[in-house]
Amino acid sequence: MSRIVLLATGGTISSRENAAGGSRASDSAAQLLAALKQHALADLISEIQVETQDISVENSFNFSFSDLARIDSAVREILQRPEVDGVVVTHGTDTIEETLALLALTHDDDRPVVFTGAQRSPDHSDSDGPRNLCDAILVAADPASRFHGVLLCFGGEIHTALPLRKAHASSLQPFSHPSGGTLGRLTEAQPQYYFGPRSLPRLPHPTQSFGDQRVDMVLSYPGADGALIRSAVASGAAGLIVLGGGAGNPGSALVQAIAEATQAGVVVGLASRTFGGSVAAIYSGGGAVDALAAGAVALGDLPGTQARVLLALLLSTGAGEETKDRLERWVQTAR
Ligand code: ASP
Repeated sequence: MSRIVLLATGGTISSRENAAGGSRASDSAAQLLAALKQHALADLISEIQVETQDISVENSFNFSFSDLARIDSAVREILQRPEVDGVVVTHGTDTIEETLALLALTHDDDRPVVFTGAQRSPDHSDSDGPRNLCDAILVAADPASRFHGVLLCFGGEIHTALPLRKAHASSLQPFSHPSGGTLGRLTEAQPQYYFGPRSLPRLPHPTQSFGDQRVDMVLSYPGADGALIRSAVASGAAGLIVLGGGAGNPGSALVQAIAEATQAGVVVGLASRTFGGSVAAIYSGGGAVDALAAGAVALGDLPGTQARVLLALLLSTGAGEETKDRLERWVQTAR
């Protein structure tokens, strides 16, 4: 019998209407599992032993880097137990891509870590939580998931953790790979993978200082001046992610501010504000060609939200030029 640990962090999958108004994370891992066992889907997981553990009961829009590091460390601790076959993490969908990124960057175990959540809370008449949780448990317990690392299982689909974006606010399958497709699907309660495991360059698990990193994000738009970049630098940002238009074109005013930031020792990553495709050095006159010449690092097809976690992790174990080189190397190796 497979043994899975269900680690709950909160999110919509655990949220209920609250007397003060609005919905708030409230159910524990044991409550999530008990609800699934009452559900028509319960038979599907009757042969899997599921243990529960709580780390927080919080909506993910309130998470900080310290919360992400705590989730990483809880998963690592669970995986120190050889009798555990896999971990399921329930998490709010709003920032799940950041936590997925951190765990995917550091995961160094053959056993799967499968994240899931819900778009409709358990007190909704048609919640997707039990189905998603059931699917995630099935994926974590299936030997075919070994070596696939950190995964997201949602709306019947299985996705790689990196790159990944929440691309819809309310759809029951809100996630999409910015450039590629879905990694797999559940068919008749069995995971099917369309691609083999992808190996990512592994980084060390976060240390205490990861939680203190300030990495800000700035979006390019018509009329954007460099004020937000200068303000981020003045506020102590050690890293910046600039989301340029199209293939990463920030515009001349932001390029000037990027040059000032990199000269001040801030590590600047260049991503795209679009939903897919890679940063490419095509345009000068304020385009990505100039941003890279100003010292920014092209982030490939990594979403800015996930690149921000990568940069913070690198900054927490190094600084300045050295971090810039490591960032460049990571992006090149992950291609
Ligand atoms: N909408 C979110 C969710 O799916 C709220 C959150 O991120 O906690 O859980």
